Amino acid sequence: MDRDKILLTPGPLTTTLRTKLAMLRDWGSWDSDFNDVTARVRRSLLKIIHGQDTHVVVPLQGSGTFSVEAAVATVVPRDGHVLVLDNGAYCKRAAKLTSMMGRRCTVMAFDEAAQVSPVALEVKLTADASVTHVVLIHCETGAGVWNPLQEVADTCEKYGKGLIVDAMSSFGALPIDARETRFDALVAASGKCLEGVPGMGFVFIRKAVLAGCEGRSQSLAMDLHDQHAYMERTGQWRFTPPTHVVVALAEAIAQFEEEGGQPARLARYTQNYRTLIHGMSRLGFMPFLDPAVQAPIIVTFHAPGDSRYEFRAFYAFARERGFILYPGKLTQVETFRVGCIGAIGPNEMEQAVQAVALALEDMGIASGEPAI
Ligand SMILES: *Cc1c(COP(=O)(O)O)cnc(C)c1O
Repeated sequence: MDRDKILLTPGPLTTTLRTKLAMLRDWGSWDSDFNDVTARVRRSLLKIIHGQDTHVVVPLQGSGTFSVEAAVATVVPRDGHVLVLDNGAYCKRAAKLTSMMGRRCTVMAFDEAAQVSPVALEVKLTADASVTHVVLIHCETGAGVWNPLQEVADTCEKYGKGLIVDAMSSFGALPIDARETRFDALVAASGKCLEGVPGMGFVFIRKAVLAGCEGRSQSLAMDLHDQHAYMERTGQWRFTPPTHVVVALAEAIAQFEEEGGQPARLARYTQNYRTLIHGMSRLGFMPFLDPAVQAPIIVTFHAPGDSRYEFRAFYAFARERGFILYPGKLTQVETFRVGCIGAIGPNEMEQAVQAVALALEDMGIASGEPAI
């Protein structure tokens, strides 16, 4: 089969041929042609959140986690106190990196099948005045929960707390408007809902907090204040840029805009999600989350109850048919995940369901119905 496998994963994900073709050229890192691309990407990114007047955007080399780490280290003072609202694996990662950056960190635990609670946050902020910043994962990719960004942002604003949002798997698809939602920093990356290739992240920082960030980072390479200052001064990245990733992102953003921007992307992913849910329920599968808290980004399904089920074999049989599934990331129940994002539509989702049906057949399993 010479067609690339369809990646039903939360990044890297399936990209268009046009995006891939953008990577066929070499670019000099200080050449004006390349600097123009960087500038164009930064302008387009700011437009997506309507942050042209209030925010800057700072690109950073590396996977998405690099940018989360850089955001925490740049925005939170060394004697700051970070409260992480934890309803899943990516929240735990954010808490871990915050502690490793030497910032005091408190984790507020929530059920991984539920949204984090703005009311509980308010109670906590009333009780503990030492908290300086809150970390929220917008779409918790671990289970797929859509967390209440607006309410959390409003609560942080009310109590004068900084807010750092990991919007990695939501940016470009779920609505985020910097004019209505107050945050200090918001982090996303090239290889998620913008449908670029992986290799760089970017952090929106509110202009009002940017000046205060000078000298906070204990890391040279991850200092976003420095990266921003250098980029403003020279138009260049401070250190070797991921040139091919940047030009691919520029091409991906052009297609994003042609498609109709964030509303159109959300509409397509929602169609993907519905197609998937309908198809999988025909096969007996049960989603892990209540649809009321489910983002149309990635869906966690209970594993089939049949004793012949085993994820590795299931994965291999679906892979043979051209579809890459994703293992579950929950601690209590056995699950697997299917992403709805990437340069795919309902046709690919129908085919994915068909591949899953055949994988079950291969394993001699009559139904995807879970044990519970
Ligand atoms: C993908 C993702 C990240 C970043 O993961 P990397 O593997 O470092 O790219 C961070 N947070 C969330 C919520 C994600 O979905």
